[in-house]
Amino acid sequence: LDFLLQTDPTISGMMQKELQRQREHLELIASENFTSPAVMATQGSVLTNKYAEGLPKKRYYGGCEFIDEIEQVAIDRAKELFGAASANVQPHSGAQANFAVFLTLLKPGDKIMGMDLSHGGHLTHGSPANVSGKWFEAVHYGVSQETEQLDYDHILEVARQERPKLIICGYSAYPRIINFEKFRAIADEVGAYLLADIAHIAGLVASGHHPNPVPHCDVVTTTTHKTLRGPRGGLILTRDPELGKKFNKSVFPGTQGGPLEHVIAGKAVAFGEALKPEFKAYSGQVIANAQAMAQQLQNRGFKIVSGGTDNHLMLVDLRSVNLTGKQADQLVSDVNITANKNTVPFDPESPFVTSGLRLGSPAMTTRGLGTEDFAEIANIIADRLQNPEDEQVKQACVQRVAALCERFPLYPHLNAPVPA
Ligand code: PLP
Repeated sequence: LDFLLQTDPTISGMMQKELQRQREHLELIASENFTSPAVMATQGSVLTNKYAEGLPKKRYYGGCEFIDEIEQVAIDRAKELFGAASANVQPHSGAQANFAVFLTLLKPGDKIMGMDLSHGGHLTHGSPANVSGKWFEAVHYGVSQETEQLDYDHILEVARQERPKLIICGYSAYPRIINFEKFRAIADEVGAYLLADIAHIAGLVASGHHPNPVPHCDVVTTTTHKTLRGPRGGLILTRDPELGKKFNKSVFPGTQGGPLEHVIAGKAVAFGEALKPEFKAYSGQVIANAQAMAQQLQNRGFKIVSGGTDNHLMLVDLRSVNLTGKQADQLVSDVNITANKNTVPFDPESPFVTSGLRLGSPAMTTRGLGTEDFAEIANIIADRLQNPEDEQVKQACVQRVAALCERFPLYPHLNAPVPA
C-alpha cells in the first residue's frame, strides 16, 4: 500500500478508506467474507501478468510451466475438498460458472426450472433480466407458504407438469438444509439434468456441515468468495469426468478468454485453507453464530423466515414491526451495520422495497466473534429497529458496534489509515 500511495495517491486514499470502512462496520452481508492475507497476496502478484488460455499442459501460450503447476494444485484441491471427479477453476464468477453449464447442457429455448427469485433463488436461475431467463424458457418453484421451506412434493408436481431439461437447486437466501437426494429423484423422474448452485453454502459443504451435492447432481457450481472464504470467483465440479471435459470447453473457449491465474492461485490457497481442521471449526462456528443471532432476534419479538436457520444466513420478516427492508437496511446502516434488504417469500412489497432483511454470519465469524457477540449484534439490531426515532438509542448502538469492531481487529498487519 505504501508503494501505491507513491504512484497513485487517489486510488491509495480510496483503498485506505475502504479498509477503514471494513474495520469499523459489522459486516453481515451473507454473501461476503474476509479472505486471508495469503489469499489477498496471490491476487496482487506477478501472476496477474500471465496469459494462459487453455488448461494445464494444454495451453495456447508459452511460459505457462509454473502457472500450470498452480492451476493443477487448485484443481486437485477442489476435487479433494468436494469429492469431485473433475473441477474447472477458471470461471471468473458464479454467474460465469452457471453460464458455462447452460452452454454445455442446453440449447436456446430449452426449459429450465429454478427457485423463484423472490423466494431466494438467484438471477442466473431464470430471471427475465438475466440471459438464463432471456434465452431459455424459465419456470419456477417456490417455498411452501405454510413452512417457508422447500416442499419436495410441490417441486415434483411442477417438474412433472413442466418437464424441464434442467432443474436448479441451491439459493441466495434460503436458510435451511437442501435435500439433494430428493432433487435427484425428481430430476430422474422427469429426465432432467440436475444442477446444484452452492454459491452460498460451499464452505459449509466443504467442511461437512451441509450434505454434499456432488454425488447426486450432474453438475455443481459455486462461488469461491462466500462461506468458502476465497478470492472472488467461480468453480464447476462434477462426478462425471466426460461431462467435466465438456464444461472445460464451455468455459474456454465457450464463454471466457484468458483465465485469471492470480485469482486461481488465490483459489488454490483458499482450498488449502479449507482442507485444514481449523476451517471445519470455523464453519461450525458460522452456523452456531447465525443460530445465536436468529434466536436472540426471535427472543426480541422478530419473525425469522422458516422459524430459524440451519446455515449461515437468516431472513428477518419485518412486517410485524411495520418496517420495510429498505427502511431497516438504512436504519442499521446508520449505526455502521452492513446488511441487505431482501424479499421474503410471498412478499407484498417490490424488490426495491421488500419486507425482509438478510443477515449472515460468515464475515464476522472470520473476525473471531462468538455466539455471545452475535447475540449482542441481535440486540443492537433489535434496539435500533424498535426505536427508529430515538437519537440516544442510535448513539448507543454506534458505540456498541465500535466496541465490537475494536475487540476483533481486521487485518492488523495492514497500514493504519492515512489521515485525510
Ligand atoms: N449463484 C448464487 C446462488 C449466488 O448467490 C450468487 C451470488 O450472489 C451467484 C450465483 C453469482 O455469483 P457472482 O456474483 O460471483 O457472479
